[in-house]
Amino acid sequence: MENLSRKEIEELIKENLTNNPSPEMLKKLKQLAMSKNVKIGALRKRFCRKCYSLFPINSEIRIKKGIKNIRCKKCGYVTRYKIK
Ligand SMILES: [Zn+2]
Repeated sequence: MENLSRKEIEELIKENLTNNPSPEMLKKLKQLAMSKNVKIGALRKRFCRKCYSLFPINSEIRIKKGIKNIRCKKCGYVTRYKIK
């Protein structure tokens, strides 16, 4: 997968997201995207940063004072996003 263009990586990511990727696959895709400077955008909110569990199945979402807290049910890691 190392010789893919940025465009191809983006396509690969989109394809995989609709396909319930495993944590291993997500990790691979993220590393690939990072190595090529591909912006993964919305993908970042689709899985746990720590254990790569797929969201929203494995997450709990709480919204507090304009901040969205997404807690991973698998490892307990909390990701925070500002809501515009
Ligand atoms: Zn996690």
